[in-house]
Amino acid sequence: MEPFAFQTFPQRVVFGSGTLAAIGDEIERLGHRRAVVLSTPEQAASAGAVAEDLGSLCVGVFAGAAMHTPVSVTEAALRQVTALNADCLVSIGGGSTTGLGKAIALRTNLDQIVIPTTYAGSEATPILGETEDGEKTTRRSAKVLPEVVVYDTDLTLGLPIRLSVTSGLNAIAHAIEALYTQDRNPVISLLAAEGIRALGVALPKVIVDPKNREARSDALYGAWACGTCLGAVGMALHHRICHVLGGSFDLPHSETHAVILPHATAFNETTVGTLLRPAAQAIAVEELGPGLYDLSLRLGAPMTLRQIGMLEEGLDRAADLIVDKPYWNPRPADRHSVRQLLDDAYFGRRPSLH
Ligand code: NAD
Repeated sequence: MEPFAFQTFPQRVVFGSGTLAAIGDEIERLGHRRAVVLSTPEQAASAGAVAEDLGSLCVGVFAGAAMHTPVSVTEAALRQVTALNADCLVSIGGGSTTGLGKAIALRTNLDQIVIPTTYAGSEATPILGETEDGEKTTRRSAKVLPEVVVYDTDLTLGLPIRLSVTSGLNAIAHAIEALYTQDRNPVISLLAAEGIRALGVALPKVIVDPKNREARSDALYGAWACGTCLGAVGMALHHRICHVLGGSFDLPHSETHAVILPHATAFNETTVGTLLRPAAQAIAVEELGPGLYDLSLRLGAPMTLRQIGMLEEGLDRAADLIVDKPYWNPRPADRHSVRQLLDDAYFGRRPSLH
C-alpha cells in the first residue's frame, strides 16, 4: 500500500424511495423552523410541492437558480432569504440549484438540506463554482458542504433520458479522475470503482425504461458514490477542460463532461493505465477511454463539441485558457496535446491508446 491521507466530511445522507416525506423531520433535527426552498424556474412546481408539504416550516420559495451559479442570481436570492428571515435552505434539483444553495450558505452560514434530482454529485462536495463577468471561479470551503442530503429515487423517474445519460457520465468522470489523482486513497478508490460499476449497469437500463425503479435507484446510488469521490480528492485534466469550456464558452455542463470524458481518459490512460484498471473492469472493457466512447455511443450521448455549441474558431483560445493556469495531471498536458484533444472531441473521433 502506498502512503495516503484520508479526510472525511460531516454530512448526513438519507437514501431511499419516498424519503421526500422526511424533509420536515430533517429541518427539525437541525433545530430550524424557517426554510426557504430553492429550485430552477423549470422545477418551480417541485419546489412549490415541497413548500406545501412543509407547511409552516417553509417561509418562501426562490425558483431562479441558473447553470454555473451566476453571482447576480445569488445576490437576488440572498435579498429574499434575508427579507424572509430564513434559518435554513432546502435545495431541490440538480447541480445548478445545489450551487445556489451553496453560494447562499457561503455568505450566510445557513444550513442546507439538498434533494438531488440529477447525478451531478454537487451535493456531496465542499466545492462551489461561481460565474461573474464570463469567468468561472471555483473554491473549496467547509462552509458550502450541505449538512443533509436526502436522495429520493422517485424524483429521478422523470429525469429526461438525455440528462440522465450526460449527468451519469458527469458522475463517472468524477470517479475516474479520483482513481489517478495525486491525493488518491484506498477508500475513495473503492468507492470510485463501485460508483462507475453502478452507473455502468444502470444507465443502459434507464435509456430503455426510464421508469425502471431498480435501475434508477442504482444510478442515484452510483451518483452519490461518484460525487463523494469528487468531494474527497482533487481532480485533473478532464475537470480543468470542462471548467474552461463551461465557464468561458458557456457550453452545457453535463454534455461537456460527456463529450470530453473518453478523450481525457484515453490521454491519461497511456500513463496511469494500471490505476484505471478498476474502472475498466467496472464497465467490462479492456481499454477504458475507447470503452467509454463506445458506452457513450450506445447510450445516445452527444459525441462532439460541435453538436453542443462549441465553435471551431474557439478551440485555440480554449487550449490557451486550459494551459494558462498550472494544475496537476498524471500526464503532462502541454498546449499542443490539449489542442489535439479538443480537436478530437470537437469532431468526435474515437480515441486510441496506440
Ligand atoms: P442542472 O442542475 O443545471 O439541471 C439542468 C436542467 O434540468 C434544469 O433546468 C433543471 O431544473 C432540470 N432538472 C433537474 N432534475 C430534473 C428532473 N429530475 N426532472 C426534470 N428536470 C430536471 O444540471 P446538473 O448537470 O445537475 O448541474 C450542472 C451544474 O452543477 C453546473 O453549474 C455545474 O458547475 C454544477 N456542478 C457543481 C459541482 C460541485 O461539486 N460544485 C459538481 C457537479 C456539478
